[in-house]
Amino acid sequence: MTLREAVGEGAARLEKAGVPEAELDAWYLLEWTAGVSRSHYLAYPTEALTEEQERRFLDALALREQRIPLQHITGEQEFMGLSFLVNDQVLVPRQDTELLVEEALKYLKPGMRFLDLCTGSGCILLSLLHYCPGAEGIGADLSPGALEMAEKNRDRLGLPARLVQSDLFEKIEGSFDLIVSNPPYIPSGAIPGLMEEVRTHEPLMALDGHEDGLYFYRRLAKESPRYLKDGGRLCLEIGFDQGESVPALLRDEGFDEIEVVRDLAGLDRVVKARKSRR
Ligand code: GLN
Repeated sequence: MTLREAVGEGAARLEKAGVPEAELDAWYLLEWTAGVSRSHYLAYPTEALTEEQERRFLDALALREQRIPLQHITGEQEFMGLSFLVNDQVLVPRQDTELLVEEALKYLKPGMRFLDLCTGSGCILLSLLHYCPGAEGIGADLSPGALEMAEKNRDRLGLPARLVQSDLFEKIEGSFDLIVSNPPYIPSGAIPGLMEEVRTHEPLMALDGHEDGLYFYRRLAKESPRYLKDGGRLCLEIGFDQGESVPALLRDEGFDEIEVVRDLAGLDRVVKARKSRR
């Protein structure tokens, strides 16, 4: 099988399986299994795969045909220019979430103490620490499987984060300059309509925001003032249709300087707020 034939056959099979970007994914699987760069592929499309490469490619293709996410097959996802290990215990880092990190970096300074709730793979916590060395970061998650993954990522990136198993603030002590979170925010009723990759292979616990999707924002709005310093910031990822409901919850709890930031697609994606100084 040549490189071009591999992409062609891969794309056709994935297309048939209903994979949204079949050709792109076929190409990624080839790149990953055969270690060929895009420029090599374009220059030598008729080069043959070795037997070993072909076997690995076809095995990976068979997994992707079952709608297993690409990143569960390759085991990693890039986020903020860093590589994160992932498995089915954590949400695959989304590009949209980079906006949350960028907004948080506007406040975070060396010497500050920050908290990342529902840390999952640790992608938010660890990229904040990477881009703001000298800050002190704590990550919390209720899921032991997620914390295990976050620990692996922390050690692999060589960053000094502390990780705690905690139901939001349950095991958290002290006060923080900044609290960030990408909590589960999909309304339970919308989960059956998610893409198959997400619905059947990503952890439901990381997605399900209960009946109206706002369960965790209600708790964050109520509980975070106790853990924020006066003037401290809260930065949250939100769903595209939560740009009014989440700010309203924060207003009710006395936050000020509430701002909604849109992502590259023009959708409401991040809410920032300040705990008012008294
Ligand atoms: N944005 C994620 C998705 O598309 C949901 C993330 C979350 O619930 N925090 O599935």
